[in-house]
Amino acid sequence: MKIRIGQGWDRHVLVEGRPCVLGGVLFEECSVGPLGHSDGDALTHALIDALLGAAGLGDIGGLFPDTDPRWAGADSLDLLTRVWGLVQKKSYRIENVDCTIITELPKISPRAEAMREKLAAVLEVPSDQISIKATRGEGVGPEGRGECVTALVVVLLSTGMD
Ligand code: MG
Repeated sequence: MKIRIGQGWDRHVLVEGRPCVLGGVLFEECSVGPLGHSDGDALTHALIDALLGAAGLGDIGGLFPDTDPRWAGADSLDLLTRVWGLVQKKSYRIENVDCTIITELPKISPRAEAMREKLAAVLEVPSDQISIKATRGEGVGPEGRGECVTALVVVLLSTGMD
């Protein structure tokens, strides 16, 4: 069995009045949301980069440049669907996905299960292969001051063959 590991990291500035979407889930109660050319879903972007990194397929900026009007306001789950298609063409399957979100807002834990289910549906894996963890910035740094949301993702792919 061939295994490949990938990591992804993304950060988006949080601003008033933007819809707050993370892991494909809308936090409608949140007063701030991630600024971005697409929907700003930092978690899904980090997951995309982890998948691309594991498969050796480049990065999100190369595939979906923020200068391309096609991706303006894009639903990041659609971008993830495209990337998962590219990874599958290389005959990889997902062993597991481990995500960490660092932010003051929104409060992640009540929606962590919904996020797992959204991402699992796109990646066609049981949700127990996806882990979503959240932590806060302890009042320091841009996350601690509530200025941004940061996401880190590690993905393990395998060929599924012995
Ligand atoms: Mg991004």
